[in-house]
Amino acid sequence: MYAISIDSGGTKVVGAVVDEKGKILTKARHEIPVRNGDYLIDVFRDIINRYSSDYPIDVVSIGGNGRIDPVRGIILNCGVYQNWQGRHLREELQQTCRLPVSVNNDCYCAIKGELWQGAAREYSVVVGIIIGTGLGGAMADHGRFWHGARFGAGEIGHMILRPDGLPCYCGQKGCVERYVSGTALWNAYNRAVGEEQLSSGYEFFERYNGGDATARQVLSTFLDDLSVVMANISNLCDPDAILIGGGISETKEVWAQELENRYRHQVGDCMQKTKIVYASMGNDAALLGAAKFGFELLEHLSSEEGQK
Ligand SMILES: [Zn+2]
Repeated sequence: MYAISIDSGGTKVVGAVVDEKGKILTKARHEIPVRNGDYLIDVFRDIINRYSSDYPIDVVSIGGNGRIDPVRGIILNCGVYQNWQGRHLREELQQTCRLPVSVNNDCYCAIKGELWQGAAREYSVVVGIIIGTGLGGAMADHGRFWHGARFGAGEIGHMILRPDGLPCYCGQKGCVERYVSGTALWNAYNRAVGEEQLSSGYEFFERYNGGDATARQVLSTFLDDLSVVMANISNLCDPDAILIGGGISETKEVWAQELENRYRHQVGDCMQKTKIVYASMGNDAALLGAAKFGFELLEHLSSEEGQK
């Protein structure tokens, strides 16, 4: 079986063909200069048409940002693109490709990929925390994701960490994402020094690795905050493992032991068994996870067919 897997981010789209063993047969990146849903769907159609002519494709799988209804394949909420919110993506793409189409949130896809082929494959109950520009999450229990009543579950980034803290675009104040994300790191540094010296997480870690005292203090507070979030998650979900992914996990060598110590210090005896694991599939996780969702959709469709 073959899936066309599409990982759709804020500024780029990656398309791939993945087989049922999780092998990526081909992959290409497409820049998205226009933040418009009509443009985006044309890019998806081009990818689907090209790969469909080269491979015997069984299913098309999309991982997209924003809140997504994976049952109906609808984009419920997405601030990144115009003409995107409310879109019946599955229906639109099925008209083009005449194949089953699976649509899921990209963060769910990344965690699904790690559960299937990566760092989380030995665990049954896993909470994923994806720390990149922002902070996303998802909870999986024996292969099934907790979606919530309106497909909004797993918004770890918008749990409130500091009542009356920094305002967030979601309308709340003091959200986790404002303190625990790549953006939060360099913003906290700039606030500490009183001027806009940094504009990326990369620059932040350059300062940190150079022995900058402010960067060290900022990272220490970041790890304190992250460990509190993880302790709360553990008590809510009792996971086998908390998976940390996203761009930040690439720097784990400099802070993973510190985080482990803080977490162990925070939680009671019951939660000491929860493991902390780090994403191992890099940027391919979301492509693989999207494909796996697609293969599961095929299984579901064929079992429905068998019941008729
Ligand atoms: Zn928020």
